[in-house]
Amino acid sequence: MSIRDRVATLVAELPQEPQYPTQGATLFVDLERRDIARGYTPMRVVKALLAGRGANMFYLHRLLDESLEPLHPDIPLIFGSGVLTGIVPSAARGNATSWSPESGVLMDCNAGDYFPSFIRMNGIDHIVLYGRAAAWTLLRIRQGDVEFLDATPYLGLDNIDLRERIPSDLGGTWNRDLAMVNVTRAGENLVLTSAIMGGPKACYARGGPGAKMGSLKVKAILVQGQTRDFETAQPYKGYNRTIAQKLLETSVVKHALKTMGTPFLYRPSRMLGAMGTKNNQETTWTDKLDAENITPYRSGMAGCFRCPVNCRPLNELNQDPADKYGRGDGPEYVTLGKFGPNVGIDRVESVIRLNNICNDLGL
Ligand code: SF4
Repeated sequence: MSIRDRVATLVAELPQEPQYPTQGATLFVDLERRDIARGYTPMRVVKALLAGRGANMFYLHRLLDESLEPLHPDIPLIFGSGVLTGIVPSAARGNATSWSPESGVLMDCNAGDYFPSFIRMNGIDHIVLYGRAAAWTLLRIRQGDVEFLDATPYLGLDNIDLRERIPSDLGGTWNRDLAMVNVTRAGENLVLTSAIMGGPKACYARGGPGAKMGSLKVKAILVQGQTRDFETAQPYKGYNRTIAQKLLETSVVKHALKTMGTPFLYRPSRMLGAMGTKNNQETTWTDKLDAENITPYRSGMAGCFRCPVNCRPLNELNQDPADKYGRGDGPEYVTLGKFGPNVGIDRVESVIRLNNICNDLGL
């Protein structure tokens, strides 16, 4: 059965109205024919699996033909946001799901920033992409509608340059009325370690999602225009203050995540001997990469949509505008571990620079 038949069968079974007041639609986007079908995740699925990753699995299960190679256009790439995404503080992350071109089994990755919340505020919970576009395409979502734009002018652009070009070409301001997921040159060239970037640093990273999106010839999905607040969630808004307060009073948030981000984990891992050092030959490494040694380069903290924690450390190595990688977003603990102990680097500046390069290259 082709993907089109599977989608048609599934959509015929799906409710055509929201099953609860804040539910968004699932869009099925046929990239080859430029057709769009809609439905809503059935309540029994939401009750059993929630939305986000859970409902992504439901859609993958219903649409997957395991006999096909992961980069086959009949294997869908599915984005999903959660039931509370965009409504409750810190519920800002979403998932990208498919069949992994890197491992040959399930691909499922999670990232934050603004895209998962902004699709929800456009009335969309899930986006199912399938079929290979005839030419490189940029999908633009405005007020819940999808347009197919020519992405040729953006080919060859990595993350930094693409995120500079998009608002100047198409208007909007990042994080206010503009959010995007995109591939870099790595995704265009089907590199198996390529990510789908969800922001300057946020990325759907594991299992080769960039290669999967590139194989469908989708350069980016842009959410643009005014976003709406959930009217039906307004009566509960007061609880958000309580939730935010509780989050901020948590010891690990107050003393570590909010002030230095996940690199605070480096020190306990080093002291416990719980590190992969020199390609896992050793288990600990120098204190030169402790989070305190990143502090002189930390230019601020950033966060995902309406998250009071703001756990993302920003960095500035220098103020030279000609040095493209002299500033950026991160590093997170995992990057610190991989570009520090795992490869035997003990200079914090080198780790930060490698982090900035990878965020741009989408790796
Ligand atoms: S800023 Fe940090 S804590 Fe807040 S939602 Fe994003 S990843 Fe989670």
